[in-house]
Amino acid sequence: MDTKEPLILTMNGGSSSLKSSLYVGGSQLKCLATASIERIGTTGSTMIMTDRTTGKNEKRAVNAPTHGACVEPLMDSLKDKGNLGDIVAVGHRVVHGGPAYRTHARVTMDMLTELRRIGPYDPEHLPVEIDLIEEFGRRFPSAPQVACFDTAFHRTMPRIAQILPIPRRYAEMGVQRYGFHGLSYAFLMNELTRIAPDKGEGRVILAHLGNGASMAAVSKGQSVETTMGFTPTSGLPMSRRSGDLDPGLVAYLARTERMDAERFHAMVNKESGLLGMSEYSSDLRDLLERESLDSRAAEAVEVFCYQARKWIGALAAALGGLDTLVFSAGIGEHSPVIRARICAGLGFLGVEIDAARNEANARMISRDGCRVTIMVIPTDEEQEIARTVWAMIGS
Ligand code: ADP
Repeated sequence: MDTKEPLILTMNGGSSSLKSSLYVGGSQLKCLATASIERIGTTGSTMIMTDRTTGKNEKRAVNAPTHGACVEPLMDSLKDKGNLGDIVAVGHRVVHGGPAYRTHARVTMDMLTELRRIGPYDPEHLPVEIDLIEEFGRRFPSAPQVACFDTAFHRTMPRIAQILPIPRRYAEMGVQRYGFHGLSYAFLMNELTRIAPDKGEGRVILAHLGNGASMAAVSKGQSVETTMGFTPTSGLPMSRRSGDLDPGLVAYLARTERMDAERFHAMVNKESGLLGMSEYSSDLRDLLERESLDSRAAEAVEVFCYQARKWIGALAAALGGLDTLVFSAGIGEHSPVIRARICAGLGFLGVEIDAARNEANARMISRDGCRVTIMVIPTDEEQEIARTVWAMIGS
């Protein structure tokens, strides 16, 4: 590196949000600032910039009709926090690597061609992520760009867990179970191993419960099973995504409502989950506030907890037992009541919450002496991207 402070920029583009962080590279990464824009594509988009040195937040309205339109205000807000000319690499979260990209890799023209080809695997995320990579290629032509794939963490899943029981010709086209939230899971395993090295080597369930929600079963540090499959719509019910459904529903709605693929995609990704069940809000906080007044809100919360509990049982079976359960992301980190409801009835597995520790959002929330250690660990996908990029280009 010929710069004094090599900077790494991370980009994490969600379906309607964009998060970015600026790090100083090194064996100890230092985050200078984070910026995030929410509600892209609607009116009332806002950007929050946090100076990580002072802890100060700045919030302002931005015009954000598309993700591309967010790049200028984002970079403008970061330019006071570090010399953008010192950016030596840009790391992108890319949700799907498809069959060709099983590990994180530097962006090439061939990769972009392949990502465009598999765009229909995940039309919510991939086109936006490709646009961002192209935009940063133009802005920083000499800085390498690195694609950090959410699917990469699950490449260790046994073949049996990857196969979808449909005709084999689809597997040859890349249709299989992949799993997602891999950057979050990699970060959480790193943290768990740092905090309690023996736990990291055991049988672990990681529960990433945010707007998107999934769980992963990890044995000896390797993913062996996860709730999501070919796309991030599957598995647990989420804020707006349905999670697993009966495949027979597709044909039923096509016949009875003439529902086409676009409509079905919109329904299961934007109108389902907590929002669809409650017909009120996709935010669990709103539903908890309303559950005593509105049975639809109460049922939505109960279905979410029931399905999460059921999946913990299934993943424990895949692992052949359970040593550690980790809660993370918006709901997992901040909602004691949901953690308690998910764990209620899992005593047979050795999962027992300590009410006081849980209420206090303590790091370790299990009862002393119970078989499974239950932990709350905040996730940080941006840090995982920066670490991956530095490991790849730092030397
Ligand atoms: P994303 O998946 O978009 O990154 P987050 O991980 O930040 O989202 O999670 C956001 C969600 O977390 C919100 O929609 C909200 O439902 C939930 N959440 C945040 N804080 C709480 C809380 N105290 N109680 C219940 N739910 C919460």
